[in-house]
Amino acid sequence: MDDLILCIVCPVLRSKSSPRKPNRPHVCDGCRERLAVDLAAIGPAYADLDPAPVRGQSEILTRVFESKPPLNLNELSLEGPGLGTPRAILSTWCRSIAEDLGHELPPDSVAAMADWLGARLVRLCDEHEAVDDLAADIRQIAGELHVYERAAEKRGHSAGRCPRQRYDDGDPCNAPLACDPFDSRITCPRCGTSWDRDAGGWVKLRAAQLEREGVAA
Ligand SMILES: [Zn+2]
Ligand SMILES: [Zn+2]
Repeated sequence: MDDLILCIVCPVLRSKSSPRKPNRPHVCDGCRERLAVDLAAIGPAYADLDPAPVRGQSEILTRVFESKPPLNLNELSLEGPGLGTPRAILSTWCRSIAEDLGHELPPDSVAAMADWLGARLVRLCDEHEAVDDLAADIRQIAGELHVYERAAEKRGHSAGRCPRQRYDDGDPCNAPLACDPFDSRITCPRCGTSWDRDAGGWVKLRAAQLEREGVAA
């Protein structure tokens, strides 16, 4: 019978492969490691991407996720405000586990709750009956946050070189420009010239760059 016992989290985290042998009744080492990594990544990813303190405008979304359905960035939820958010999901798990284990609840922040779960992960993998459900929720949250992580990486996207002529010698400034998708203005870090997307500036910038390239060629 022993060889029939298989990891119950494998079907969640690596559903295309056959389940591995678990380490103590429930969960194999690979899935434990993956959960630990995901939990450790959730706090920092959420902190980086939660726009509420600085922005919180849905307008950002139409820009960044132009071809994607609108997401509720403030609540980081696909289901609606306050429902199925990383905070709500983690909070439900922490409450239930704290009660089971007789532990104190962590502070109600995504980072604190993810850390708290991470600190109890070995025991949860060894003992918790619904660790596969927990794994599914952690995977979902990590997946949602990776979406935003990628969007954040777009910040600082290269936007070519500054085409502005210098006053002294008439050569182009040529400093590398960066475009922040959360900002409508591209500003040259060297000469300070800026182009406002809303005023058609980005189109003019591109045209000037193409003209420069034409001159250089
Ligand atoms: Zn597994
Ligand atoms: Zn410049």
